[in-house]
Amino acid sequence: MTDPEATDSLIVLVLFATVLLRLLLVGLVVWALIPRRRTCPQCSEITSPVMAPLALRLLLLERRWCMSCGWDGVARKSPRAAGASRPASTIPTASLVLLTAALLFSACRPAEDRVARMFASSANWVDLTHSFDEHTIYWPTAEPFKLEMVSEGMTPGGYYYSAANFAAAEHGGTHIDAPVHFAKGRHTTDQIPVTQLIGAAVVVDVAAKVTSNPDYRVVAADLQEFEARHGRIADGTIVLFRTGWGSRWPERKAYLGTETTGAAAVPQLHFPGIDSTAARWLVAERKVDAIGIDTPSIDYGQSSTFDVHQILFAADIPAFENVANLDQLPETGAFVVALPMKIAGGTGGPLRIVAAIP
Ligand SMILES: [Zn+2]
Ligand SMILES: [Zn+2]
Repeated sequence: MTDPEATDSLIVLVLFATVLLRLLLVGLVVWALIPRRRTCPQCSEITSPVMAPLALRLLLLERRWCMSCGWDGVARKSPRAAGASRPASTIPTASLVLLTAALLFSACRPAEDRVARMFASSANWVDLTHSFDEHTIYWPTAEPFKLEMVSEGMTPGGYYYSAANFAAAEHGGTHIDAPVHFAKGRHTTDQIPVTQLIGAAVVVDVAAKVTSNPDYRVVAADLQEFEARHGRIADGTIVLFRTGWGSRWPERKAYLGTETTGAAAVPQLHFPGIDSTAARWLVAERKVDAIGIDTPSIDYGQSSTFDVHQILFAADIPAFENVANLDQLPETGAFVVALPMKIAGGTGGPLRIVAAIP
């Protein structure tokens, strides 16, 4: 086992050394290329530079020629003659500064560095997933999560071994809704392109409105308000809705509005969701890759027609439900990776969703 902190420190040290070396090299090249006024070692008159190979000039040697006495030679730079003014560079200093800056900037490759920083072990990742266990909240009519140990302990072979079986409904805990869940012929879980599940995310915060109304539905105006503050939601964005409901997890009564299970519990559900006006606006006016919410469903608890599921899924936009820890994300700038279990023909499935914060 290597110590990850030690590895991180080593990577930072190597990166720092590389940057220093680049700076040093660029500085050396620029310094060596600046023409200087040098005096003749024989008659002390001003000499003229003779074009010399770059390699020679990089070694701080300059070939000079003296017009007065005819001296011609490669000499180390001599101390400036007393009283001589600072030599004027034939290349304006500003150009050299610009050249140096351009060289340094081109060496930085910002896009590449951003990706490298994001996936470095030191990056700030937030887990947006609730753990799956006996407390995991499922739809009142769904089978809860089951974990059954098959083996656990020392074997006759002298080694430790543990293994379990698990079972659960697709739609419970932090999970994905595949478009086929409410739209015949649309993507099943395994058919959703991974490019739709990985990308830049925005967080639309409606927590203040939910405080006074647990049946609140996010309307199109909430999205337009968000855009007024942060700019247009770009194509391919993952739009996450923060209602603040996640803080109630895993208290079943507080989170679902009811503790009972079975079909009779469904009309008692109370939690915020999204309004059909917002779903229609997203489909018609923007090109988002996926959406997510920190409640049990993208349609609010009292819905009986599940309009938002129907509208978004008809457009092959999948949804993440029971997303955790949305309070830890900024409204813009997060990068989300949301990869569900790849259930062939699935209508949804358990989801591991995480976000990197730059
Ligand atoms: Zn679902
Ligand atoms: Zn759903």
